[in-house]
Amino acid sequence: MALRSFVEVSPDSYFPIQNLPFGIFQPKQGKPRVGVAIGDLITDLSVLEELGHFRSPEFRDQKVFLEDSLNTFLALGRPAWRKTREVLQHLLSAETPTLRDNARLRGKVFYAQKDAAMKLPARIGNYTDFYSSYHHAHNVGTMLRGPENALMPNWKWLPVAYHGRASSVVVSGTDVRRPSGQTKAPDAAAPTFGPTKSLDYELEMAFLIGPGNSLGQPVPINRATDHIFGLVLMNDWSARDIQAWEYQPLGPFLSKNFCTSISPWVVTLEALEPFRKPRPQQDPEPLPYLRAKNDFTFDIYLEAGLQTSSMGTPQVITRTNFQNLYWSIAQQLAHHTITGCNLEPGDLLASGTISGETEESRGCMLELTWRGANALTLANGETRKWLEDGDTLTITGWCQGDDYRVGFGEVSGCILPAG
Ligand code: MN
Repeated sequence: MALRSFVEVSPDSYFPIQNLPFGIFQPKQGKPRVGVAIGDLITDLSVLEELGHFRSPEFRDQKVFLEDSLNTFLALGRPAWRKTREVLQHLLSAETPTLRDNARLRGKVFYAQKDAAMKLPARIGNYTDFYSSYHHAHNVGTMLRGPENALMPNWKWLPVAYHGRASSVVVSGTDVRRPSGQTKAPDAAAPTFGPTKSLDYELEMAFLIGPGNSLGQPVPINRATDHIFGLVLMNDWSARDIQAWEYQPLGPFLSKNFCTSISPWVVTLEALEPFRKPRPQQDPEPLPYLRAKNDFTFDIYLEAGLQTSSMGTPQVITRTNFQNLYWSIAQQLAHHTITGCNLEPGDLLASGTISGETEESRGCMLELTWRGANALTLANGETRKWLEDGDTLTITGWCQGDDYRVGFGEVSGCILPAG
C-alpha cells in the first residue's frame, strides 16, 4: 500500500507525505525556523530536533533547524537530508502513534500554513541564470537575428549563463516595483530615461546548492548531484526594452537585477526521484566533462497564470514542462565549476526560461507576443503585450503520481507602479 500520513491530505494537494519540501517559516509568535510542508500544515523541525529525533551521526552533533535559513542544513549534505526525510516519513505516517495519538505534541509541532509567513529558504550568496531551453534560445535568437542565425555557435556546446544578482532574490508574494532605466528606440538618435514599457516574466526553475566545492576543485559531472539539494520555481522578472539597449556585449545587467522571485518550498531530489526521466538527446555530443552516466531530467508540469487587477482568478498563459530543457542540472553544475569556481551552500542556479516547441509552452511575454507584435487577448477581452501595473503573475508546478502530486506550491508577484 502507498505511504500515507495521518495528516489529512487531499489528492490534489502539492504536499503529500511523498513530497516533504523544506522551507523557512515564521509563526505569528516566534522566530523563523525550518519547516516541512504536509497537506495544509507545516511541521516545525526545530521542535522535533529539541525532542532528539535528529540525534544521529549524519548531523555531526549540530542543531540546524532553529535557524532563519537552510544553509547549515544544506552544508551537511545528502546523508543528513536523507535521514531527515526518513525520520519525517516515519513520524508522519498513518502507522506511527508518536504524533498521531498525542494531541498535545501535535499542538506544538504543527502550524497551519495560512497562519505562518514564508521567508526565503536560504541565504543566497550567489545566483546564476542559465539559458538552457532550446526553444526559448531559438525563438529569442530568431527575433534578434533571424532563423538562420538564431542560435549562437556556442549554444549546443556549453550551457550558456550569466552571473545574476543574489541580493534582489525575493520570496513569493513580494511586490515587484516597475524599474526605470535607459532605453533607446531603434530609430531614435539617443536613449531616454524612464519606467520600463516592456516588463516581462520568465518561467524558470532553480536548484539550491548543498555542500560547496573548494576553490580550484571542479565538481566532476558524476558527482554533481551530491551538491544539489532540491528545486524551486522561479520568476526572472525582465525589462525587455532596457535589456535590448544594454545587453551587448556583456549580457543582461540592469534589465534583470531589480527582482527575481522564488517559491518558498524546496522540493528535494529524493521527492522528485519517481519522476526522473532520461535527459533529451544531445547532438553534437558534448565534450567529455559534460557527459554523465545516466544523465537525467524530471517530468515536472509547469504553468504561468496572469491575473489583471480586473480579473477574479488567474488565466493560464504558459503550459510547459521541465523536460523542455536541453542541458541537465548536472551539466550546468559541472560546467559552472569546471574552472575551479567554488559554489557555496545556498547558491541558486536557475534554468533559464523553460519554453517548449508549441506556442502555448512559451515561457515569457517576449515569446508569447513575439516582442509585442501580437498582443495576447485574455478571456475577459483585455489585451497585453507586456505586464502592466496591478498585474499578478503566478507560476505553479507539480509532478503527477498515480494518486498523488509532488508539487512546488507557487511563486507569485504583483507589479507596482514605478517609484
Ligand atoms: Mn532568465
